[in-house]
Amino acid sequence: MPQTLSARDILDRLVAFPSVSRDSNLPLIDWVEGYLAEHGIGATRVPSPCGTKAHLFAQVGPDVPGGLILSGHTDVVPVDGQDWTTDPWQVTERDGRLYGRGTCDMKGFVALAIAAMVQARGMDLSRPLQLALSYDEEVGCMAVVDLIHAMVDTLPRAEAVIVGEPTTLRVVTGHKGGTGYRVHMRGFEVHSSILHRGVSAVMEAARLIQWANERNAENARATPGPLAAAFDPPWTTLHVGTIAGGTAHNITARDCHFSLSFRVVPGDDPETWCAAFEAEVARIEADMKAIRPEAAIHLDRYFALPPLRPERGGRAEERTRRLSGDNGSHVVSYGTEGGQFQAQGYSTVVCGPGDIAQAHQPDEFIEIDQFKAGAAFLDRLLAEMTA
Ligand SMILES: [Zn+2]
Repeated sequence: MPQTLSARDILDRLVAFPSVSRDSNLPLIDWVEGYLAEHGIGATRVPSPCGTKAHLFAQVGPDVPGGLILSGHTDVVPVDGQDWTTDPWQVTERDGRLYGRGTCDMKGFVALAIAAMVQARGMDLSRPLQLALSYDEEVGCMAVVDLIHAMVDTLPRAEAVIVGEPTTLRVVTGHKGGTGYRVHMRGFEVHSSILHRGVSAVMEAARLIQWANERNAENARATPGPLAAAFDPPWTTLHVGTIAGGTAHNITARDCHFSLSFRVVPGDDPETWCAAFEAEVARIEADMKAIRPEAAIHLDRYFALPPLRPERGGRAEERTRRLSGDNGSHVVSYGTEGGQFQAQGYSTVVCGPGDIAQAHQPDEFIEIDQFKAGAAFLDRLLAEMTA
């Protein structure tokens, strides 16, 4: 007989794998795959292009459409430079809390979902329960698209997705999307006294940054769309977080690097924003090249996350509200993989135990009451799926 672990025991195992996004998650995936297999649940890996990481998906119940996906990420943020009073890679119970990296974001939910899969295996489900575990959520949510495509190709189509990011089990139906660029401006160095024969990478960068400022001002003046109205602020914002360039006050800068990111409200399309930005880049690059052909602008788009758009009468919202009893309407300011599932045609909400305020913090924790409430939520889900 295989040993059936409690969700709490599973959480202990998961936290003990230091699955920081920059490192491999394969030891964790090996363990989950093995544990599910011991309980008769076959799982499928979707390896990363470089082979050092993998997504994992699985299904229990009848092989028919109309099931439900429980989605979670296996990676966690680093603990470098953080002042922890407990071992981040071991669950420590103290004052009604479970401390450890990922307990809140989001191995707590992943542990509950794995326990629910094993429990569901012994039940007579009318629709399938599917599990989707990803890597690289914390570094831009781009990888999960491969997981979703593999599930679409392999499994009967589920009718709803619950992304179990910490929302204290409130039903979150919307979040902003985002995308970002690393921009490298390549200018041409001359003495600044003959500025007109050189190209200052710093000053050309300023033109692009000014373009971003103007878009912000324009967006703030516009009337928010109906899907954006719930957000603070209810418009798409552009932000330059870092910039570096130049070597001396009297040399036109050869190089300038900056990062530009967009937070995009539902109703706006990140791709439209990117097209507008890239058109401006092309315009400025042409001006630079007219002075020195070797001048150039290099773009590296390093993350892209579609917004989660509140659905009117969506299946995921309806089902999750029944289970959680939460009838408020909530949007959040952080991104999740929910936008990617929705972009692939799934009705999607974000709902999971724990408070996002504790995510990414030193001494990250989940309240034991929240963990138990998450277990009760999934118990009700299973009961409903057998009815
Ligand atoms: Zn998360």
